[in-house]
Amino acid sequence: MKRILVCPVCKSTDVEYDTAGVTGKYRCKNCGFVGSAVLEMTEGEYKEMIEGEEIEKKAEQEIRGKKRKQDQEEKGEKRDFHF
Ligand SMILES: [Zn+2]
Repeated sequence: MKRILVCPVCKSTDVEYDTAGVTGKYRCKNCGFVGSAVLEMTEGEYKEMIEGEEIEKKAEQEIRGKKRKQDQEEKGEKRDFHF
């Protein structure tokens, strides 16, 4: 299976081996990252990673939403208590 290079910073696949330089490093065309350590994975693994991150983001947003609601409820309760 074909392996693709993935930028460890922005997760872009727009990474190329910097053949022009003598450093032998990889360069991300998306965010400008230069380094010898890039993520190398199959397309399937990459897809899984992106999907996993999207699920994590959604979960995070849900937790934040719930927390905000809880804070509001707590404030409401305190106000009621002081009255
Ligand atoms: Zn990048």
